[in-house]
Amino acid sequence: MLTYATIQAAQDALKRPLTAAETIWFNYTATKSDYLLYCHNILFLFLIFSLVPLYYLFLEFFLKNSIRCYKIQPKANLTISDAFRCYKSVMRMFVLVVGPLQLLSYPSIKMVGIRTSLPLPSIWEIVTQLAVYFLVEDYTNYWIHRLLHCKWGYDKIHKVHHEYTAPIGYAAPYAHWAEILILGIPSFLGPAMVPGHMITFWLWIVLRQIEAIETHSGYDFPWTPTKYIPFYGGPDYHDYHHYVGGLSQSNFASVFTYCDYIYGTDKGYRYHKNVLQQLREGSKLSQEQKKLSHSTGEDLKAD
Ligand SMILES: [Zn+2]
Ligand SMILES: [Zn+2]
Repeated sequence: MLTYATIQAAQDALKRPLTAAETIWFNYTATKSDYLLYCHNILFLFLIFSLVPLYYLFLEFFLKNSIRCYKIQPKANLTISDAFRCYKSVMRMFVLVVGPLQLLSYPSIKMVGIRTSLPLPSIWEIVTQLAVYFLVEDYTNYWIHRLLHCKWGYDKIHKVHHEYTAPIGYAAPYAHWAEILILGIPSFLGPAMVPGHMITFWLWIVLRQIEAIETHSGYDFPWTPTKYIPFYGGPDYHDYHHYVGGLSQSNFASVFTYCDYIYGTDKGYRYHKNVLQQLREGSKLSQEQKKLSHSTGEDLKAD
C-alpha cells in the first residue's frame, strides 16, 4: 500500500510530477495491501504455466511440417493427451505447493525489503537487477541441480523431472514437490541480495518461468530473442540433459553455459554436438558425391 494519500501528496514528496507509469501504479496500488500485490505472482504463474506452453503446442500440432527442422528430438512424438496429462500434474503441484509457498513466503519478502512505493525504478535499475537475479539463480541452481544428480537425490527427488526424456513446455515445472521447494531458494537469493521494487520482482518471476518453458519446449527456433543473450544455454542445451537422463553429468546450469564450461560439465554435450556436426558434413559430402557421379554418368551417356 502506498504511503501517499493522493497523487498531489506523492508529487510533493518526490518534488516532481509523477510519470505516466507512476500515475498508473499509484491508481492501481493505492488501496491494495503489499501482501495482495505480492500474491499477484500466483496469478502470473498460473497464467504463464497455462498459456505460454500453448504457443509450442499450437506449433507442434498445427504447423508440424513447417517447424519440423527446428525440433530437437524429431523422433519424439507428442500427443494431446500426453500434454494434457502433464498440464494436469503441473496444476496439481501448483495448487498444493507453488501457491501455498507464495502465500507463506511473504514475510521473507518483507524482511529483505522488496518495496512497493514510489518512485518506480528506472529501466536501467530493473535490467541490472534482473541480470543479477539470473546470474545468482543460475550459479546456485547449477550446484543444487548437480547435487540432485547424486544417487540418493536422483532416485528420491530429481527422477520425476527427468520422466520427460524429450521435454515439452508444460514439463518445465514438472518435478517432485521437494524439488520445487528446494529450487525456490536460488530464485529468492537474487532478490534477497539486491532487493528491488515489486515490479522488478514480478518481472523476475515471469521472465524466469518463460525462460524455463522455452528451455523445455523441445524446439530450437532461430528467431527467439534469447539467441542474442551472451552465454545463454537455451532449449538445445537443456534438452541434451533430459535426453541423456539420469546418467547425465552434463549441462546442469538452468540458464547460461558458463558454469558447465568452468566446471567441465559440458564435455558430453560438446562431444555430442561434434559428432552430429561430422555426421551432417559426412552426409552432405556423400550427397554431393552422388550428385557428381550422377551428372558425370549423364555426361558420359550424352557423349
Ligand atoms: Zn537433471
Ligand atoms: Zn529440465
